[in-house]
Amino acid sequence: MSIENSSRREFIKTSLFFGASALVPVGLALTNIVQGKNSDDRRIIVIGAGLAGLACSYDLYKAGYNVILLEARSRPGGRVRTYRDPFADGLYAEMGAEYVDSEDHYVKKYAKEFGLSILKAKLYDGVYVRGKKFRMKDLQSLRHQLPYADVEGSNLFGQEKKYINHYVERIQTWFKQNSISSFSLHDSGGQKKSKNSININNLPQDILDLDNLSVADLLRKEGAHKDIIELYTFTNATESTGRPETLSAFSMVLGHFMADSFNEETDEGRIQGGNDQLPKAFAKSLSNTIFYRRPVKKIEYNNDGVEVSFLEDGKLTSLKGDKCVITMPVSLLRRTKINPAFTADKMHCIRKQSYGHVMKIAMQCKHRFWDESASIGQRVFTDTPLRRVYHHSIDQPGPRGILLSFTSGSDAEKLGRMSEARRMEVAQSTCRKIWLDTPQYWEGGISKYWNEDPWIRASYSVVGVGQKDFREILARKEGLCHFAGEHTSIYRSSMNGAIESGLRASREIQIDN
Ligand SMILES: Cc1cc2nc3c(=O)[nH]c(=O)nc-3n(C[C@H](O)[C@H](O)[C@H](O)COP(=O)(O)OP(=O)(O)OC[C@H]3O[C@@H](n4cnc5c(N)ncnc54)[C@H](O)[C@@H]3O)c2cc1C
Repeated sequence: MSIENSSRREFIKTSLFFGASALVPVGLALTNIVQGKNSDDRRIIVIGAGLAGLACSYDLYKAGYNVILLEARSRPGGRVRTYRDPFADGLYAEMGAEYVDSEDHYVKKYAKEFGLSILKAKLYDGVYVRGKKFRMKDLQSLRHQLPYADVEGSNLFGQEKKYINHYVERIQTWFKQNSISSFSLHDSGGQKKSKNSININNLPQDILDLDNLSVADLLRKEGAHKDIIELYTFTNATESTGRPETLSAFSMVLGHFMADSFNEETDEGRIQGGNDQLPKAFAKSLSNTIFYRRPVKKIEYNNDGVEVSFLEDGKLTSLKGDKCVITMPVSLLRRTKINPAFTADKMHCIRKQSYGHVMKIAMQCKHRFWDESASIGQRVFTDTPLRRVYHHSIDQPGPRGILLSFTSGSDAEKLGRMSEARRMEVAQSTCRKIWLDTPQYWEGGISKYWNEDPWIRASYSVVGVGQKDFREILARKEGLCHFAGEHTSIYRSSMNGAIESGLRASREIQIDN
């Protein structure tokens, strides 16, 4: 069935049908399967089967723990979501996490362990901003310049750096004075703790004070033209799905210091054949320990253990454990009953942690018109509502192909308020501006707006103004409750970070026992 010929309702029905075919009736109650509500002293209840919960469970399981993994959905992977069924010819699209960077050692380690290979992604070929098309190579050779005031040199990314460089240099000087040769926050997911781990709160006070300013405020204060802030909104769109008016300036400066800011040369890849294979491989290894469609509603704990209450077939039931690991996003944890409440600073971070907005749209086209010689290219950076648009099906033979868009921040919010049909109209008309032939080959599309997904209701965590300490507080264990999830990792907002956090929580438990 071509997407074009099916109505949105049919489309959803089809997707639901395929989703539902994976379901089995709940059948035996979990409490019967795991032999009793009461815990043995190695029973660990893990909440959430995203990469954080899966990695944590896998590590604990291998260490001989009795793991019970509760997941609200009927599939593993959380924000790693590959759509396959809506498309023809074996095409698929990553509607959630997509790129694996060259530094993502945890993703690479487990991909290797499960026999998955990483496909190298394409770099940007073109830019479409302020209604004008540019080939990347013409910008790089300075044949053309971006139509933004005060842009210098040939770079698209990092134009804000000149305004904050003196802060970056202050951090570098501080590092030299303190004889710290390289920078590492506390990566404790691995076996070894980094020698150079530092506490960010030891940085000079004027640097720490930047946390009270937004990115937009700092850039304005340092004399940046509004065009530089506007450009930053789009260049930063995948790294952080928030708006410059709400993001912490401290976090941006630290990002530049760590030199890990995204740029047009960033070496990226994705798992060949679909990222969903990674969570599925974890889940298969854990098979009997995962219980799907069990949304957790309440977490109680005391000095002797934890009791987790969840819905099972519509009925509230509970299980006791020695400890629990909470990996669900904070956007959901703030809706969960906690008894007794965690410490005041933890509860504050749970209530206030900032997230952005994100939507992806996958568009099936019957011909790969983006490869024609007059085309601007197949991976295009834009300031349109679609923001980034690119050929996704690079590992699939044609003639059909999928264009994928990544929209974040206020543009995602705007698209999110539209009906699915309207989103598709915007997607098609926007692509037409980039590639004139789009309507001729368009077969249909589908969107995924994560802020309307009931089990995340957000994108991924961002460091909001005043939130520089949130990550550490959110990661800190409280009594017998441990915490993981991308929002607790130094590699936040990534698959790598989710895995690192799960391994860190597993290690905490193993050290305690
Ligand atoms: C559009 C998009 C693009 C992205 N792009 C990239 C990228 O290119 N590269 C990259 O590395 N990362 C990317 N990410 C980020 C990455 O997906 C996440 O950082 C990572 O997958 C988070 O894993 P997690 O386990 O922390 O959370 P999740 O994956 O959200 O897992 C949490 C799990 O908890 C479950 N849950 C929630 N509430 C309950 C409850 N009450 N009871 C039981 N279970 C519950 C959820 O269903 C979910 O399965 C992207 C994310 C999005 C949304």
